[in-house]
Amino acid sequence: MTSVLGTNWSGNHAYRAARIASPSSVDEVRQLLHGATAVRALGTRHSFNPIADSADLLISTELLRAEPVIDADARLVTVGAGTRYGDLASTLQAAGWALPNLASLPHISIGGAIATGTHGSGNRIPSLAASVAGLEIVLASGDVLQLNRGDADFDGAVVSLGALGIVTRVTLDIEPTFDIEQSVFEGLAFAEAEQNFDAITGAAYSVSLFTTWRNPDVLDQVWLKRRAGVDAAAPADLFGAVAAPADRHPLPGISAVNCTAQMGMPGAWLDRLPHFRLDFTPSNGEELQSEFLVPRRHAVAALGAVRALAAKIAPLLQVCEVRTFAADSLWLSGGFETDAVGFHFTWLKQQPEVEALLLELEAVLAPFSARPHWGKLFTADAAALEGVYPRMRNFRALAARLDPSRVFVNEFLERTVLPPV
Ligand SMILES: Cc1cc2nc3c(=O)[nH]c(=O)nc-3n(C[C@H](O)[C@H](O)[C@H](O)COP(=O)(O)OP(=O)(O)OC[C@H]3O[C@@H](n4cnc5c(N)ncnc54)[C@H](O)[C@@H]3O)c2cc1C
Repeated sequence: MTSVLGTNWSGNHAYRAARIASPSSVDEVRQLLHGATAVRALGTRHSFNPIADSADLLISTELLRAEPVIDADARLVTVGAGTRYGDLASTLQAAGWALPNLASLPHISIGGAIATGTHGSGNRIPSLAASVAGLEIVLASGDVLQLNRGDADFDGAVVSLGALGIVTRVTLDIEPTFDIEQSVFEGLAFAEAEQNFDAITGAAYSVSLFTTWRNPDVLDQVWLKRRAGVDAAAPADLFGAVAAPADRHPLPGISAVNCTAQMGMPGAWLDRLPHFRLDFTPSNGEELQSEFLVPRRHAVAALGAVRALAAKIAPLLQVCEVRTFAADSLWLSGGFETDAVGFHFTWLKQQPEVEALLLELEAVLAPFSARPHWGKLFTADAAALEGVYPRMRNFRALAARLDPSRVFVNEFLERTVLPPV
């Protein structure tokens, strides 16, 4: 797959835009937008679908990395939207601060992650977007809009899918730094997972279940990330799953050398909450990803529905990760007004076969009002998505008001969110 603009991280999409620019200031962004007809922001290219592509101009945010400014009294940090979470995390840690949560990979940009509702795991922790307290957005008109939590349009503008403008600065909630102890348990019987889902996902600050579905009766691993000094000590066994005797990679048989430290060894939040280390930089990925976000009340039933497809899923799968996260008020978030459970799939790079299976997977998860992750592969269209995002019409009205000429609408958004009017 070739393109002068290169591909996304996975290499499954070659950007088709005519040109790319990398502004380093708000004024440069405004100049680029002057007279432009088709523009999209491009973060660190970690999405698996064409959500970030443009018919004409891509504005890369790689130089929009204004130094973090910490407001200790307000417990906030303001940072350039192109900054990678891992880089912000290092700055915060050095100053004694932390973010409540991180995604599995620390290399993604803040602007891109919040635009797609990226989340980590933890019964009580909402999506990363829910930590946003303020946004600076350059609109198609060139006007610079500052939106803060509590403003009328704020809840619609954080998980924006890039449809409202170029986010140049983001203000995030911070808290005093904390340590995490990570332990992995292996061989959780599916029946135990079904019966004790709440206890298992509540066994630590952040919990991930990993499985290949090769044996539908067993979930391979449970990763517990306990808050040191707050959460209970690691159990000797977890509903029959046993403590791993050494560090583990989520994929069976792969070296754990690039994974964050386990075996209960305490470490700073930024070195334990992601599954992979910041100093390990995967430049591209031999994988595809999908994820479906289901209201928490359907967690066990939806887990059973996924298991019923195990024989079809396993041959195309590298690993499935099940995570929970708390409700938020952001219109296009997977956690909008519901605690949620995410069923994530890291697929082999066989896109036609994966897309065929996604039709079946989406059909079995539809009764549970599953919402697809915006940055991963899915097949649903705007009509279907309107049924699971109750504020979709409000979002369309907001986009029409802030971007009346549809400068930020691309083909992907026409199909999924903003059909031609
Ligand atoms: C290995 C890997 C691990 C991942 N782990 C997780 C995970 O743990 N949890 C999870 O939920 N997701 C995860 N993801 C998905 C990922 O977080 C999202 O795809 C996210 O959008 C990637 O951010 P990005 O900067 O690469 O965005 P891009 O792919 O570059 O862009 C995504 C969208 O954001 C918009 N955008 C980017 N920057 C801005 C900006 N400044 N202003 C306005 N719009 C903007 C783009 O226009 C586009 O619509 C993972 C992806 C990979 C490849």
